[in-house]
Amino acid sequence: MSKCSKCGASVSFLNGSCIEIRGSDQSWVGISYICPKCDTILGISPDLMTLRDDLTEIVRSLHQRSDDGS
Ligand SMILES: [Zn+2]
Repeated sequence: MSKCSKCGASVSFLNGSCIEIRGSDQSWVGISYICPKCDTILGISPDLMTLRDDLTEIVRSLHQRSDDGS
């Protein structure tokens, strides 16, 4: 269990909401974790399900590239 840095409430669960994380040339779907008591954003992490799909896509394109073989 963690504590909210703002209101000090013990946080046994967090509200999550989808956000977009923007990098310089790419963006990811992420989840922001919000204190259920005071709505402070306590953390942000990439959406693992979306990341997994992205990785699958990257691996697939790598395979296709090597299959071209010349
Ligand atoms: Zn709080």
